[in-house]
Order: sequence, then structure tokens, then C-alpha cells
Amino acid sequence: MLLNEILVYNKNFLEKKEYMPYQSGKVAQKQLLVFTCMDTRLTELLHKAMGLHGGDAKFVKNAGASLIGYQDDTIRSILIALYALSINQIFVVGHYDCAMERVHGEEMEAMLRSSGMTDKDTKDFSVSSWLQGISGAKENVENSVHILRTHPLLPKDTKVYGLLIDPATGRLDPVVT
Ligand SMILES: [Zn+2]
Repeated sequence: MLLNEILVYNKNFLEKKEYMPYQSGKVAQKQLLVFTCMDTRLTELLHKAMGLHGGDAKFVKNAGASLIGYQDDTIRSILIALYALSINQIFVVGHYDCAMERVHGEEMEAMLRSSGMTDKDTKDFSVSSWLQGISGAKENVENSVHILRTHPLLPKDTKVYGLLIDPATGRLDPVVT
């Protein structure tokens, strides 16, 4: 069972004090927030490719580094970071070969239906638009940067930039500077 495996590993991790190299303060030293995709390939690669260490930046992740409007829940985390956690710039980092380019709202709705969800279960959700993927990685980064830059609640001096990362090599391409 994975949970047990991880708990056993963790006990050993503590005993050997392997946490020591990762100890850092709560405030992001570079006052940076990175908004990126939950893709597994980016878990360590993104930090390494950007030269960031624990304690340097906040990371907010979702499916595709996408925003579906000014009230997207991800923006709640971003606003809290900007107002309460000393962040003053945001890098939106999308990536090539994002699985969200192949996610379609209608297909997601069909998958929910085939897993047994009924109208009663889905009545409070606009499933097909809510679970819609992205049309293209570059367009998505541009859209997320646009929503953030024009967000009425964003502190006026916040810098917002957009980049794309190659999930194989870690190459960063600026998209919106
Ligand atoms: Zn992705």
C-alpha cells in the first residue's frame, strides 16, 4: 500500500535528518509566485530549470496553469500571496505537450456520466465548461497573464510575465514579457 510505503520512508527521512538541507523561512526570498501546471514532469524540473530553491518562491499549480475567469479559485491563492505573503511578481509557466490540450468538456461530461453520475449529481455544476481543457499552450499562457494583469483586485505594481517550459529539457521560452 502506497500510504504505508510513504510513512515508512518518512520515518527514515526524519531519523536521518534528511530535512536539514530544505529548512528555510516562510517568506519567499525572491518575492516570486510561480503559477504552473500540475504535470508530474515539472515537479522537480521546474525548480531546477529556474534555479529556484526551497524558500525562494511560492508555487501555485492547477491543471494547465489555466484560469477560467476573474473569480477562478486559483486567483484566491494568488491574491492571498500578493497581499499577505510579500509576493510582488508572478510568472505564469505553461508547458509544451500539456495534457490539458487534449481535455474536452463534453468528453469529461460523458466520462462522468459513464461512471454513474446522474443529473442530480451534476445539477450544481456546468460540467462541460468547468472541466474544459485549454486550446493551446501559448494561447493559454497569454490568457492567464491577461486575466491576472487586468484583474481589478491585483495590486497595481504587480509584475506578471508568461513563459513556456519544455517538460523534457527544461528550456524556458518567454511568451509575455
Ligand atoms: Zn500541463
